[in-house]
Amino acid sequence: MPPNVSDSVATDSADVKTVPTPDTNAVWERKRPAQDENNNNSKTSSSSSSSNDCAHERTSEPFRAQIRWPDFFAQLFVHVGFVIGLYYLVTFQAKFYTYLWTLALVWATGLGITAGAHRLWSHKSYKARWPLRLLLMFLFTICGQRDAYTWAHDHRVHHKYSETDADPHNAKRGFFFAHVGWVFLTPHPEVVAKRKIIDMSDLEADPIVMAQRRFYIPLFALLVIGLPVLVPWYYWDEQLAVAFWVCFTFRFTTTLNIAFFVNSVAHMFGNKPYDRSISPVENLAVAIAAMGEGWHNYHHVFPWDYKTSELGSYLFNVTTGFIDCFARVGWAYDRKSVPAEVVARRAAKCGDGTRFLTDEYAHQDAVWGYGDEDIPKEDLDAII
Ligand SMILES: [Zn+2]
Ligand SMILES: [Zn+2]
Repeated sequence: MPPNVSDSVATDSADVKTVPTPDTNAVWERKRPAQDENNNNSKTSSSSSSSNDCAHERTSEPFRAQIRWPDFFAQLFVHVGFVIGLYYLVTFQAKFYTYLWTLALVWATGLGITAGAHRLWSHKSYKARWPLRLLLMFLFTICGQRDAYTWAHDHRVHHKYSETDADPHNAKRGFFFAHVGWVFLTPHPEVVAKRKIIDMSDLEADPIVMAQRRFYIPLFALLVIGLPVLVPWYYWDEQLAVAFWVCFTFRFTTTLNIAFFVNSVAHMFGNKPYDRSISPVENLAVAIAAMGEGWHNYHHVFPWDYKTSELGSYLFNVTTGFIDCFARVGWAYDRKSVPAEVVARRAAKCGDGTRFLTDEYAHQDAVWGYGDEDIPKEDLDAII
């Protein structure tokens, strides 16, 4: 988060706060923090970055990751389980309500990741009263993606040191590593080092976050396996085996891979309207699957924006609609956003030129011809 954001937002009277950025250059000219000021053997030449406002420093040093076998076999198990669950679904061996239950679980619990672990706990892009935090924690826990503290911790490191050795799922190490490899490989020493210096004091002061962390193993058994599997077995007599492979492994692995797509696909395939020098991209397919988390170029440039995009439409950003609904009843508040002119300036300076081709602001600055009052004055003065 840039300096003074929270202070300046706190004094704003509107419900949705736009983040004042008096010196916009301070944001886009801010360089990636030095990887390790005591270790200068991994820094790239500063001359290349100083010549480009949008460039960031990169690091590379030899490192051989080891396979963490328990994590590897856990991933193998859930992915094989995904195939078994899929088999039950495509051969119509599951009951109708099991399909609905699985769909509802994937959709609803995903909001625990997007609105909870991501936009609330990782980025502090809005605030939530305890009933909403409890609901989000309940939904997030069902996903089974580790505890919220650990999730947010790695995600903060990812943003702060994106595309460097200190990035837990550094996309520069290839699609497979960014997608799933990082989960079962030993982390780079830089990741371990940076985890120690990322500020997590806000989450350490949140009793809901810390309670979920403390009781994560029993909660996993109860909410990731027990609840999803036993509900169909108890209420509509689903076979226990079908309920297990569909409502646990298939459902769990589906949600997991959608989250993984943000780290892999949304760091590789798409446009870069806001900063062409970074690898995160805007990807519509990921945005749809991940309920608004595919607008990743914008999100890495403005991670404090609760919408994670500049789009106002809820269609491709269901999570924003969810947060706005709870803002209406007062459970979500202090939603932070970025003024449109700041976004436009950043896009004009660092973007790849695709901003006006891909979003609802398309052609907003276009003019129909001579006489259009939107013709810039300097253009009018230059007409011969
Ligand atoms: Zn993020
Ligand atoms: Zn990212």
